[in-house]
Amino acid sequence: MDQKKQVAACIPIVPFKGVAFYDIGGLLANPTEFALCMDLLVELLTPLCDKFSAIGCFDARGFLFGPLLGYRLNKKVFMLRKEGKMPRVIDTVTYGKEYTGDNKHGLDSLSIQEGSVNAGDSVILIDDLMATGGTMNAGVELIKRAGGSVLMCVCLIELGALNGRQAITMNHPDTPFFTLLSED
Ligand code: 5GP
Repeated sequence: MDQKKQVAACIPIVPFKGVAFYDIGGLLANPTEFALCMDLLVELLTPLCDKFSAIGCFDARGFLFGPLLGYRLNKKVFMLRKEGKMPRVIDTVTYGKEYTGDNKHGLDSLSIQEGSVNAGDSVILIDDLMATGGTMNAGVELIKRAGGSVLMCVCLIELGALNGRQAITMNHPDTPFFTLLSED
């Protein structure tokens, strides 16, 4: 089995709140595959290390990967959190939730803390999964509004059928994207 298939095999797709949910808890329960996954991301980002200063990770499952990457790559890590979850917030982006566990349409929001990104900073953004791209897009928006730029958006799983990548490219054509596992 190739390495990516080995990682994918640890992530069960289970019915949850009305959608086929990719349960990243399965990866955490498999230390060999989790390490493999982190190693693949470290391999991807190591050659870029002199081009970025920080790693931004998304509430909540991006928190499982961002700090470990920061540790391995010796980079500052910052959080992008749902509104009302942390102090010293300087900016918040509200975005449409087109894909929710309850199949409800609604609004979600993401905040950034003071000092996370300074003018001119280049950062990597990481999350576990991209569906419609709304979350990742809001992250890119927050970085740009803080005066920074996104060197690369990274996620473990991309649900291709939901066209998240296109949504980001449309809004931020200068932002490259990397995904470990692409699912249709
Ligand atoms: P988007 O904003 O791209 O529509 O949704 C992506 C966000 O929702 C990510 O922060 C991700 O953690 C969460 N998400 C949506 N669907 C799933 C799923 O099937 N599995 C996991 N682990 N996260 C999901």
